Amino acid sequence: MAFSNSSLVSCTRISPNKNVGRTHSIDTVTIHCVVGQTSAESLGAFFADPDLEASSNYGVGYDGKIGLYVEEKDRSWCTSSSANDNRAVTIEVASDTYAPYKITDAAYSSLVQLLADICRRNGIAALSWSASRDDRLSHRVNMTAHRDYANKSCPGDYIYEREAQIAAEVNRLLGTNGAAAPAARQDTSGGSSDIKEVQSWLNGYGFALEVDGVYGYYTRTALTKALQKELNNKYGAGLVVDGIYGSCTAGAVRNLYNGCVSKPVKVLQGLLICNGCDTGGLDGIFGAKTEAAVRAYQSKKGLCVDGIAGRETFRALCCG
Ligand SMILES: [Zn+2]
Repeated sequence: MAFSNSSLVSCTRISPNKNVGRTHSIDTVTIHCVVGQTSAESLGAFFADPDLEASSNYGVGYDGKIGLYVEEKDRSWCTSSSANDNRAVTIEVASDTYAPYKITDAAYSSLVQLLADICRRNGIAALSWSASRDDRLSHRVNMTAHRDYANKSCPGDYIYEREAQIAAEVNRLLGTNGAAAPAARQDTSGGSSDIKEVQSWLNGYGFALEVDGVYGYYTRTALTKALQKELNNKYGAGLVVDGIYGSCTAGAVRNLYNGCVSKPVKVLQGLLICNGCDTGGLDGIFGAKTEAAVRAYQSKKGLCVDGIAGRETFRALCCG
């Protein structure tokens, strides 16, 4: 995983309070409140003190200016949880010093822009929030909260009550709708061995999926990325591998039908298996069973039932 930092940053002051490197890829964001209407510069000066033993990846000042204090490649000391901070990009936002720790409109709109930028660069297709602490702690959603890990009110009720709205605004910028986002890990009872096979195969691409047989947000995003990679490999499509099935990816999809043998067929089979269809295997060979699976899926989704997997079938599979 190649890490980068946001180009929206206008002030950089790298904090000594961090671990160099991460033990997990970035798949989560955690928004915090500063408890003070500070600027990005003064927050950087605050985190520059090694005795503080605290930091965040980014900060958003009261005026909307954005600071970088811990590069995304490194783990910040922000959320009272090593496990969370190893996978999350953490953002401190200037806020009032009193409940509900309101943030300014300028800070809010910069926060939304920064989050969309973080998602784009890290292959996060959409943000999702849940009011259930359990969903957040188990990473069924990809927005977490400091108050879940420590006896704190952070991020303050002002932000906390707007997390879903923030996710919706970010997803609008990303061109994905909230329905495409997590919350959707439907059945967690044991999972399916066929889906586990798909997840193990996807991890061969370098993903770090939990092989749990549960088809959720991360597995679907990994499948879309695998599709993009294979379209690049086979057809030189030149797609950005971002896990978002947009117009460029749709434009690069070729029709797959009985008799085709290719890596894109294998991705198709992975998508079908995760959607509960029996393809007769995960082997990259489009045979009678894979055709039957395509037909069954097209019928279920109200698509033209022709047994040929093209743009619309892939769109339905990749966008849920
Ligand atoms: Zn916090």
